[in-house]
Amino acid sequence: MADHQHRLSHHYRIRSGEGFRLNTIDPGSTAHAPISDKQAAQAALADGVERMAALQDKLYAQDRWALLLVFQAMDAAGKDGTIKHVMSGVNPQGCQVSSFKAPSAIDLDHDYLWRANQCLPERGRIGIFNRSYYEETLVVRVHPELLARQTIPEELVGHDIWQHRFRDIRHYEDYLGRNGVVVRKFFLHVSKQEQKRRFLERLENPEKNWKFSAADIRERAHWDAYMAAYEQMIGHTATDSSPWYVVPADHKWFTRLVVADAVIDTLESLNLAYPTVSDATRRELAEAHRQLLEE
Ligand code: ATP
Ligand code: MG
Repeated sequence: MADHQHRLSHHYRIRSGEGFRLNTIDPGSTAHAPISDKQAAQAALADGVERMAALQDKLYAQDRWALLLVFQAMDAAGKDGTIKHVMSGVNPQGCQVSSFKAPSAIDLDHDYLWRANQCLPERGRIGIFNRSYYEETLVVRVHPELLARQTIPEELVGHDIWQHRFRDIRHYEDYLGRNGVVVRKFFLHVSKQEQKRRFLERLENPEKNWKFSAADIRERAHWDAYMAAYEQMIGHTATDSSPWYVVPADHKWFTRLVVADAVIDTLESLNLAYPTVSDATRRELAEAHRQLLEE
């Protein structure tokens, strides 16, 4: 994958959201890729998976840092496939995936970060959020009736509630960062046109029917409102310590390359190392070694 100064994922990384405009990133882009086609991507992807597995092994052994990868996207943008691919080489013991669907009655009885907080990765682990607390500034914003269901005291639900949520989330992620939970966020940016193509494929191919739900078409009708909500969300929550990656998602192979590169880049930045053994332990090991040989 690309060298340090010109890493592929850096082209799509947003570390300061000020003035961020979604239309500066083309969902169909495959620019800056070290290779130019799907075929060559297979080898690069396999290489990336291998490097990730080696880094994850150290992350787990060192048991200090945790990595939280947040995935947000419109339907059919490829979240599930990307998660499956990116994690394909990783030891399942060191990885946990949490999917956030519509909140339950118990979830709704709490503050909105409550359920996410229970799913955070332990030290040494990679946690994946398939959707997340960010839905609280997306689907809940596009559908005000969902906010009403949260039964928050009326005087706390003003027009500035979204600004409050952006601030809460920034602070929450700062807090996580200071506790050794490294947060990286991915918006898989698919075009409306490509979503249509993928929906049609799901409808026309019996083996893909199960992936389609009538709700998907209903959400598609709110496309512009979603894009506006995503733009504001990224603009207000992209920070140096918890950046967003806006990943072009019309070409799945390219999406996966960018995400894998971002994960590798992040893990490399932690200077992970296997724990070293103390002199006392080293003596114990030598003694055990001697005993076994003498048996
Ligand atoms: P798939 O890609 O397999 O369809 P999915 O993530 O879309 O997976 P679904 O069961 O289709 O899963 O949908 C989950 C739904 O839950 C989404 O429409 C999402 O917007 C909604 N959801 C997630 N979090 C919240 C939330 N906090 N409040 C309300 N709705 C939410
Ligand atoms: Mg869905």
